[in-house]
Amino acid sequence: MSERYSRQELFAPIGEEGQRRIRATSVFVLGAGALGSSGAEMLVRAGVGRLSIVDRDIIEWTNLHRQQLYTEQDVVEQLPKAVAAEKRLTAINGDVNVTGIVIDVTTQNVLDLMDGHDVVLDATDNIETRLLANDAALKLGIPFFMGACVGSYGLTFPIGIKEDQPCLHCLLETLPSQTLTCDTVGVISPIVVTTAARQVADMLKYVTGTPFEPKLESADLWTGDRASIGVASMKKSGCPSCSENAVYPFLSARESMKTAVLCGRDTVQLSWPGSRKFELIPFADSIQGTVSKLIHNPHLVACEYNGHRIVLFRDGRMLVHGTKDIVTAKKIAAGLLG
Ligand SMILES: [Zn+2]
Repeated sequence: MSERYSRQELFAPIGEEGQRRIRATSVFVLGAGALGSSGAEMLVRAGVGRLSIVDRDIIEWTNLHRQQLYTEQDVVEQLPKAVAAEKRLTAINGDVNVTGIVIDVTTQNVLDLMDGHDVVLDATDNIETRLLANDAALKLGIPFFMGACVGSYGLTFPIGIKEDQPCLHCLLETLPSQTLTCDTVGVISPIVVTTAARQVADMLKYVTGTPFEPKLESADLWTGDRASIGVASMKKSGCPSCSENAVYPFLSARESMKTAVLCGRDTVQLSWPGSRKFELIPFADSIQGTVSKLIHNPHLVACEYNGHRIVLFRDGRMLVHGTKDIVTAKKIAAGLLG
């Protein structure tokens, strides 16, 4: 028994054999924000063999209250999260092969990025990327440990553990509103840590070969409400993402978010075909405290947010004025829409 992991190996369900299995595990962490920070730190301390962490953002002051891998100096240096995460995680456990990748995960690169890993930790901040990752993980046959939190509320669900279980796509209409984000209603760090802890606990059970039932678990640390829902019956026969004849729609550019830089205008248009619908009035209510110059009518919601004029149309198109950069526009959309 190695000294470093002795207390983890003493935990009977893991033991020396479990520790060997943890060591043999290669983890893909999708996002290096709050959940990514907490989850990756736990996994690196637990002694996984390899961990890749991907993120498109740089570290900002607004991240520091909950994104535990980062420091004030990282903000001053404007470091990308994936770069600072790699450095900090390597300092925590030099035996783990950590790679930070600064990239916007898209339909074009997700399969290549994820391939070769044994498990995926979901730590993204938006449903678009989460659905993309759901399809990619299912296609590659890699278990996907979904996690999301906002305010004081968090949700976890492990996908790809059992054949007869639903995937994220099956549950899409069952999940709570996805238009609340940390940028609009805030978030407290305890729910981040709780949510990441549940994801990592499920992941450790899986990699050590402990049988368990995948459940949709939710917790609200402010109200104290908790729920654990068996969802086996919610698998949709004919689900385009997880049935026998899966076509993985979110991996095809046709079904995923479309982006276009509008010619001759300093504006990016984002659009979501098919699967995403917007309720304008609840959306306008949810962003009221976050944006300025808010206007809404039956056709659109317009506002100013982070220095950009934003217009969201009922058909699911969003215009982000004041930029020609698609990554900037996607980041703004993720901040407002989740
Ligand atoms: Zn499904």
